[in-house]
Amino acid sequence: MAKVIVIGGGPAGMMAAIAAAEKHEVILIEKNEKLGKKLFITGKGRCNVTNAKDIGEFFDFIPGNPEFLYSSLYGYTNEDVIDFFNNLKVPLKIERGDRVFPKSDKSSDIINALEKELFKKNVRIVLYTQVKDMVLVNNKIISIKTIDNKELKGDYFIIATGGLSYPQTGSTGDGFKLAKKVGHKVTLLKPSLVPIETNEQWVKDLQGLALKNVELTIKNNKKKNIYKEFGEMIFTHFGISGPIVLSASRFIKDNEKFYAVINLKPALLPEELDKRIQKDFSKYINKDFKNSLEELLPKKLINIIIKLSGIPETKKVNSITKEERKALCYLLQNLTLEVKGLRPLKEAIVTAGGINVKEIDPSSMKSKIIENLYFAGEVIDVDAYTGGYNIQIAFSTGYLAGKMVGEK
Ligand SMILES: Cc1cc2nc3c(=O)[nH]c(=O)nc-3n(C[C@H](O)[C@H](O)[C@H](O)COP(=O)(O)OP(=O)(O)OC[C@H]3O[C@@H](n4cnc5c(N)ncnc54)[C@H](O)[C@@H]3O)c2cc1C
Repeated sequence: MAKVIVIGGGPAGMMAAIAAAEKHEVILIEKNEKLGKKLFITGKGRCNVTNAKDIGEFFDFIPGNPEFLYSSLYGYTNEDVIDFFNNLKVPLKIERGDRVFPKSDKSSDIINALEKELFKKNVRIVLYTQVKDMVLVNNKIISIKTIDNKELKGDYFIIATGGLSYPQTGSTGDGFKLAKKVGHKVTLLKPSLVPIETNEQWVKDLQGLALKNVELTIKNNKKKNIYKEFGEMIFTHFGISGPIVLSASRFIKDNEKFYAVINLKPALLPEELDKRIQKDFSKYINKDFKNSLEELLPKKLINIIIKLSGIPETKKVNSITKEERKALCYLLQNLTLEVKGLRPLKEAIVTAGGINVKEIDPSSMKSKIIENLYFAGEVIDVDAYTGGYNIQIAFSTGYLAGKMVGEK
């Protein structure tokens, strides 16, 4: 029986340990006091554990190296994940956008089920232990060294240490350092699924305002659309956040100018919106402009739109010109913010970039450089949008690494 050492007790490491334990003696090393600290806070504590879409559709939601994940996602699918938890008596449910959650709405149920399976498979769990080094002899790792200078020998090693986001959960980029030391390349590490900072001062006044059913377009300096999505967003003290903003962040690059354009009324064509405003205006014909938008916009937004429209707030509705009304329509469908940049990596949901996929065999997760080393999860240069895809990637790559470890 070979000895497999899995470094990192997140979803990728736990699944890798469970799969490897079918054939091997497995030790799972985690630096925190417990397993799955990040998993615990996922999906706002509810854990969006996977997505119910056909697995073939997953690749449309994976901007970071989707083709690398074909074998792992088809080899251990969302249905396998759903069966896995059902068998462990954790019933799941499907919500909007095909997102899958535990019926209990408790991420702790997911973690407990994984722990139960680890115990059942006799995986030795070592907590409070940070791996700081790997000892390499003749292109083979023979042992790992912990922060308190203990050495642990093994036959095979799986790095599942996560990325660099939310470092308080344990993912502080150790895996990148370990892999670099043994000759692997790490691609540029960038925040993804992260809020966007904008330059306009007025966003501060909108802090906390959540908008549903809006459309967000990211345009570059040449006014070319590079991202468009319909859904929910929220204003913050520094700019914008929420599901469609987080996904948009994947397309914002350094040293380029971008604009976030919000369509507050995406269901209406411009002429339909104009008609709608005319209807409101005829109702409030003798009122001031500032008192005519209540039915059209959330309260918090009215003052801002009035300021940006350039129409004096005390102007009587009956004297607003057609040009002014048309400009108002345009503004409502093109509320434009200048992107200042992204919030830092530590605030990102995932890390884009990681161990170069060219140096990992996609059919086994095995290193192409070191013969007894494997990778799983976010430490690899792969990343997906929100919707349960990232945890599925962690499970699928973890399962494949665990299943293939030691295979010729
Ligand atoms: C706030 C938030 C919400 C999210 N919600 C969702 C969601 O609902 N659905 C979804 O699909 N994705 C979600 N994600 C993303 C998802 O959590 C990650 O993609 C996933 O956890 C990655 O799994 P992993 O096992 O690769 O890494 P991690 O979960 O980061 O686990 C890595 C583990 O390795 C340990 N470790 C690191 N270095 C060492 C070392 N040197 N020695 C020993 N142990 C070490 C860490 O302590 C950690 O426990 C969310 C992320 C965040 C931050």
